[in-house]
Amino acid sequence: PPVLLWLRRDLRLADHPALRAAIATGQPVIPVFIRDDSVDGLGAAARFRLGLALVALAEGLGALQSRLTLRAGPAEETLAALIAETGANAVYWTRLYDPASIARDTAVKAALTARGVRAESFPGHVLFEPWRVATGQGGPYRVFTPFWKAVRARHPGVPLDAPRRLAPPQAWPRSDELAAWRLGAAMNRGAPIVAAHQCPGEAGAAARLERFLHERIADYGAGRDYPAQAATSGLSENLAWGEIGPRQIWAAGWRALNEGAAGAEDFLRELAWRDFAYHLMFHFPALVTGNWRAEWDSFPWRGDPEAPEVLAWQQGRTGEPLVDAAMREMYVTGKMHNRARMIVASYLTKHLLTHWRIGLDWFAEHLTDWDPASNAMGWQWVAGSGPDAAPYFRVFNPATQAKKFDPDGAYRARWIAEGQAHPPETALRYFDAVPRRWRLSPAAAYPDPVVDLAEGRARALAAYAAHRGG
Ligand code: FAD
Repeated sequence: PPVLLWLRRDLRLADHPALRAAIATGQPVIPVFIRDDSVDGLGAAARFRLGLALVALAEGLGALQSRLTLRAGPAEETLAALIAETGANAVYWTRLYDPASIARDTAVKAALTARGVRAESFPGHVLFEPWRVATGQGGPYRVFTPFWKAVRARHPGVPLDAPRRLAPPQAWPRSDELAAWRLGAAMNRGAPIVAAHQCPGEAGAAARLERFLHERIADYGAGRDYPAQAATSGLSENLAWGEIGPRQIWAAGWRALNEGAAGAEDFLRELAWRDFAYHLMFHFPALVTGNWRAEWDSFPWRGDPEAPEVLAWQQGRTGEPLVDAAMREMYVTGKMHNRARMIVASYLTKHLLTHWRIGLDWFAEHLTDWDPASNAMGWQWVAGSGPDAAPYFRVFNPATQAKKFDPDGAYRARWIAEGQAHPPETALRYFDAVPRRWRLSPAAAYPDPVVDLAEGRARALAAYAAHRGG
């Protein structure tokens, strides 16, 4: 009988412990991807990006004389149907750690086991599973630096090679057509525009890693904070769908470190931030469901997602050039530079006193690298409501940040057309992508600030002082 390999955010062939274990059974392997609620509930960009990942994975499987079977429906019923059709006696998958996936997978495991089907889950999505890292007292970490000290010298194991062959079943089960799923349908900002900035699949991920190691890692420490520079790896979109395993990147980072590459230590530390986000999400699921610190529940955040200043933020017309450049970058590319993410998040939650969840939702809709743990951690860190948070009173000043991290204005010029006699292609692309009802034009005057920076800061600090006092 065959083994079903239930693929979710592990759309790769190399360093895939569940796949390796399925092959080791000696049974035929049927790789399956199920479009359940977890897919239908994704933001437009992530769903679209998933489609690119599935195309690449199907090709990779094809090269091994295997096939990707696509099915839609609730996971438990869909797997049951596939078991009935194929006679499979086992289902293998890679573990996920967000509350919704844990609930689903626990139910699926119980149901399969009750039917006498072997249900086995494997690591692979993070370097160190959340329960494998603990403080001296045996509890979870809440602060990054000690977490980093605890994991830095640990070895997550040697990455596994991709298999050369996957034993096919006697007959393949029916598969949906990927095109019929229309995963890009909600990308009304123009899928081709965003697609041009993606590097999908295992091959895309490997190419990104190679380029980073050869061209960028030496300057990573110095350059990673400058949004105009191509100093970072760009691997987040690949990690989101598991087109590369974190262990493969970790191993490459350590090789570079041992060879003396200047930025390697910083790079490994950033990769550990991703693991830390998963560590927090697993141990404190409130990270993704609410304010991690309950005292923030009563903070007077503004909660109207349609408020004029929120629309200005979303549409990249706050009149604060660095903020607008970043919001436009995300709209066009599906990504945003990390420094810029912190600045726009601070501006929304502090200068505009708006609830971080409104920002998080907008990011979830527009990022092709959307990740449940990193996104929630990022927002709560900046808003001050999370574990290991930046203190609320530390308000990023976007103008000062611009002077420091975009000193020659290159990033702003790349994304803001207004006021430029010959705007670059990138800046103009934004106007091709936005809906007409936003009424934006590159020929219009650049907008006035929606809030005076000093006033916005003072208002945020006053709200914070009142909240603490009360
Ligand atoms: P590199 O600098 O090359 O780093 C390598 C890898 O390390 C990244 O691919 C990523 O997996 C990890 N990493 C780096 N920085 C962080 C970080 N601060 N937190 C967690 N992991 C990190 N990242 C996402 O992948 N998805 C998100 O939805 C997301 N939302 C964010 C929201 C906010 C408000 C903030 C402040 C940050 C968010 N981040 C998110 C983290 C970070 O901005 C991105 O991971 C990073 O910009 C990706 O670019 P890169 O792959 O070139 O990173």
